[in-house]
Amino acid sequence: MFQALLDPGDEVIIPAPYWVSFPEQVKLCDAVPVFAATAERDGFRLHRGSVESLVTPRTRILVLNSPSNPTGAALTRKELEGLAALAVERDFLILADETYESLVYDGYQHVSIATLSDAMYARTILVNSLSKAYAMTGWRVGYTAGPKELITAMDGLQSQMTSNPTSIAQRAAVVALTGPQEPTHRMREEFARRRRYIVDRLNAMPGVTCLSPEGAFYVFPNVSGLYGKRSQGKGIGNSTEFSAYLLDAARIAVVPGVEFGNDAHIRISYATSMANIEKGMDRMAEAVKILG
Ligand SMILES: *Cc1c(COP(=O)(O)O)cnc(C)c1O
Repeated sequence: MFQALLDPGDEVIIPAPYWVSFPEQVKLCDAVPVFAATAERDGFRLHRGSVESLVTPRTRILVLNSPSNPTGAALTRKELEGLAALAVERDFLILADETYESLVYDGYQHVSIATLSDAMYARTILVNSLSKAYAMTGWRVGYTAGPKELITAMDGLQSQMTSNPTSIAQRAAVVALTGPQEPTHRMREEFARRRRYIVDRLNAMPGVTCLSPEGAFYVFPNVSGLYGKRSQGKGIGNSTEFSAYLLDAARIAVVPGVEFGNDAHIRISYATSMANIEKGMDRMAEAVKILG
């Protein structure tokens, strides 16, 4: 989508923390990622005002990834309405990455910004993936919907790059999308249970705080309370060093928040068994406890 649409120097507004691929994909087009900061103390809400102050005549797209990877934060209808009004007023497109739309908790209702009005329908490019909601990561199928001219341009580009996903994977995707959704609902219930558990365990660790996000299957705990501590003479001063420490001392793999644009945090996925999560949290708690 970026390659079909962006000219060198065009600007794309990306809320931070962001999924790692968004800025890199923009840079591949010699376009410019512009980051709209969101804050932990505020549940990583994206405010219209912070986007508005970044809009210039070169702004082409605002990326909305709700629920978000890595924070799990999801936008409310009211917040979407504010951003939609701004998109119309200042004439930019919305890229809505709704990969986690069905993995939401505590009664949160996902709303697609494309459904808010005819004007938004005309300026939203929706992207989605079978990878998460249907546990089909290895099948490599996703889909997009948007204004016809743009989809045609994307098709022209993409058909010279990958030809197509295999017909087998396409058939499986049709079954996933049109068949009973009960398996996804069961997955969501299980994710909700793991989420409650992992958030409680993390908040019980001294120096660690963790929000309980609306969606996706990640937590994004703040571990900056541990920066400045030492392990075997080596200082831990940022998310990369803390993640390396967890790999060495606890043998658990997490992703440094700096890769998502926020060095105070790490990202942990709870898309693994409850037994693994319990073991991982036990090990992390021990590793945090022995830091000097
Ligand atoms: C996982 C993910 C995707 C989809 O990736 P696939 O290549 O379809 O597996 C898209 N956007 C976000 C934010 C993701 O986390």
